[in-house]
Amino acid sequence: MTDDSPFKLERICVFCGSHSGVDPAFRAAAVELGAQMAKRGLGLVYGGGKVGLMGAMADAALAANGEVIGVIPRSLRDREVAHLGVSDLQVVDSMHERKRLMYGQAEAVVALPGGIGTLDELFESMTWNQLDIHAKPAGLLNVAGYFDPLLAMLERAVEQGFVGSSYREFLRVATTVPELLASLESYQPPAETLWSRRSDVPTDAFE
Ligand code: AMP
Repeated sequence: MTDDSPFKLERICVFCGSHSGVDPAFRAAAVELGAQMAKRGLGLVYGGGKVGLMGAMADAALAANGEVIGVIPRSLRDREVAHLGVSDLQVVDSMHERKRLMYGQAEAVVALPGGIGTLDELFESMTWNQLDIHAKPAGLLNVAGYFDPLLAMLERAVEQGFVGSSYREFLRVATTVPELLASLESYQPPAETLWSRRSDVPTDAFE
C-alpha cells in the first residue's frame, strides 16, 4: 500500500474497556483522553458503547463539544449497550464490518486499558500494518503500568524472532494523555512499509 499524502491527524479510533477496571486512574485517563481530543479538534471513533471506559470517554468528548462516531454491531445495540447520544451512531451487521469501518475513519488508533476486545482490536490494527492493509500509528496509553507485561511480551517476541523491531515505529507508548497525543500528532510515516522490511525479523519467520 502506498500513500504519498502527508500524515494529518483528524480522527483517532480508540479501543478501551467495556468495564472501568479496578484502578480509578483508568476511568480518569479515559475522561481526560475524550476531553483533550475534543479540545484539540480531534474526532473520536470508537465502539459506540455507553458502558465502562468507552462510555466515560465518549461522555467527556461530547461534554467538550467533540465529534464522536460510534460504530456498533446491531446485536450489541439491541442489547441496549449503545450510546444513543453520540454525534453519529453507525450500526453494522458484523464485528468484521465494524472493525473495517472503525479503522477506516481514523488516521491513528489508540488503546486504553481494557480486556480481550481491546487487545483484539489493537493487535488486529497492528497486524494490518504488518500486512500492508493499512498504515496507522497505534498509541498505547500505559496507565498505571497496566500494559507493562504486554510490552515485555512484544519485546520477547522481537528477541525470539517473531516480530520485527520496526513495530516500535508504529506503536507509540506514553503514560500521559498530552504525551500520547503529541506523539501521534507528530507521527511521520516511514518511507518503507513494514511488509517491505519483513527481513528485520532475524529468522526465516516469514518463509
Ligand atoms: P473489552 O476490552 O473486552 O471490554 O472490549 C472492549 C472493546 O470491544 C471495545 O473497544 C469495543 O469496540 C468492543 N466492545 C466490547 N463490549 C462492548 C459493548 N458492550 N459495547 C460496545 N462495544 C463493545
